[in-house]
Amino acid sequence: MALLPEFLRTPTFFIDGAWRTGTGDGEGTIVNPATGEVLARYRSPSVDDIDAALEAAGRGFSLWRRVPAIERGAVLRRAATLMRERLDEYARVLTLEEGKPLAEARGEWQVTADMFEWFAEEARRAYGRLVPARAEHLQQQVVREPIGPVAAFAAWNFPARNPGYKIAAALAAGCSCVVKPAEETPLTCLLLAQALADAGLPAGVLNVLYGDPTELSSRLIASPVIRKISFTGSTRVGQLLAVQAAQLAKPATLELGGQAPVLVFDDADIDHAVGQLLPSKYRNAGQTCISPTRFFVQEGSYARFVEAFARASRALRVGDGMGDAVQMGPLFHERRLPEMQRFVEDAIARGARVACGGEQRAAAGYFWEPTVVSDLEDDALLMQAEPFGPIAAIAPFATLDEGLERANALPYGLGAYAFTTSLRTAQRVAGGLEAGMIGINTAKLSHAETPFGGVKQSGHGSEGGTEGLDAYLVTKSISLAS
Ligand code: NAD
Repeated sequence: MALLPEFLRTPTFFIDGAWRTGTGDGEGTIVNPATGEVLARYRSPSVDDIDAALEAAGRGFSLWRRVPAIERGAVLRRAATLMRERLDEYARVLTLEEGKPLAEARGEWQVTADMFEWFAEEARRAYGRLVPARAEHLQQQVVREPIGPVAAFAAWNFPARNPGYKIAAALAAGCSCVVKPAEETPLTCLLLAQALADAGLPAGVLNVLYGDPTELSSRLIASPVIRKISFTGSTRVGQLLAVQAAQLAKPATLELGGQAPVLVFDDADIDHAVGQLLPSKYRNAGQTCISPTRFFVQEGSYARFVEAFARASRALRVGDGMGDAVQMGPLFHERRLPEMQRFVEDAIARGARVACGGEQRAAAGYFWEPTVVSDLEDDALLMQAEPFGPIAAIAPFATLDEGLERANALPYGLGAYAFTTSLRTAQRVAGGLEAGMIGINTAKLSHAETPFGGVKQSGHGSEGGTEGLDAYLVTKSISLAS
């Protein structure tokens, strides 16, 4: 436990500007996925703890909405600066609880700080408009106001970025938040709260608590204090929460699963494609919602691509993310291991070829080999369901139309990729792929200044970009006669 900074060794909640121990009956543990060791134990929240967070968020909203946008932006910018100053310490905590290599953890904090800086600026741009009036002595105004206190539910795979995107946009808009980070990885979110508190965020504007997810989310969503929910995580849980919110006519931003297709055309630069797709596939051990997963490679390049991707996958250095030069860490939880086993066994039973990996590593912790499975039929589990792990599924295709049809065949539409040197092909896939984010000749899709979000069952609403602020604003029309 000495690995953690003092104040995280017995993790508490952050409620009304104070660190507060849970008063519930249960206990939870936070485990280092690279070793299986318990990092910290916490007491669950009681109903009183949840209600205290809700009351604080109600008070926090009354106060924060009146703070001028330029001052709200200054707090966000100061918090970003603190994240950058504390990068080493904050990245270590992230790696310890989630498992990703330190370099990735540092990158995640940088991206999170970027997002706070972006929304520090955007806070000042929640423009309304004046509409040409219908009559003399009448002014028709359209203004945009913060929607109110937000309940934000963040997944474990990006413990800083996921809650950070929601918090930055909500606070920029003038909303307060009750955030529930994943109960398996809450420590990083407490560091976000620390940075914001140290940056001068008033008490009550941000509240963080975690524990039994079903109990927490139902009480938060049902509370009349909460006006909006934002969720990142699986489609299964997102649909459950969206139904609860819809029953009370509360809007929801949903960032759910993907099963990202890749189309590699014969005219592509194969080395470039492998160089882009490899880090994207194995980032966070494949546990990212935009991870390229279904690789469709045109027949003329198929054998060469499979060989090159498998060779590069085999060469990856896998290990405890705290170690030097490690390129891929463990899966975040032991429950993910049997899931990987299920995907690989199904593929083998259907006659697919395991070009590399395919097994758990014989080591402490929850390690799965970087795995490449080729010659898959489209009805294989790997081509239908999101593995959310370090497995690349590869199949050949013949024509552009066939590739597009197979890429679009699933009910998901988050990230999608294509590699080609033909402008015509690039234009056709950009228009034809059903996805919220498309990378052509690049696997980098996520930036503070561009919207991040999906279509179909991958969710709705965007985080990031100018759209990210819209999610936390409501429109009011004012007719003012004098
Ligand atoms: P899971 O669907 O069982 O999710 C468990 C996680 O969801 C826990 O962290 C928990 O806090 C949260 N959760 C569960 N019930 C909840 C509720 N009622 N309210 C709020 N949060 C709740 O699966 P898992 O094993 O953790 O992850 C596997 C799947 O989750 C993957 O296949 C992937 O599709 C999806 N996932 C997606 C993202 C993403 O970024 N879109 C992130 C993480 C997980």
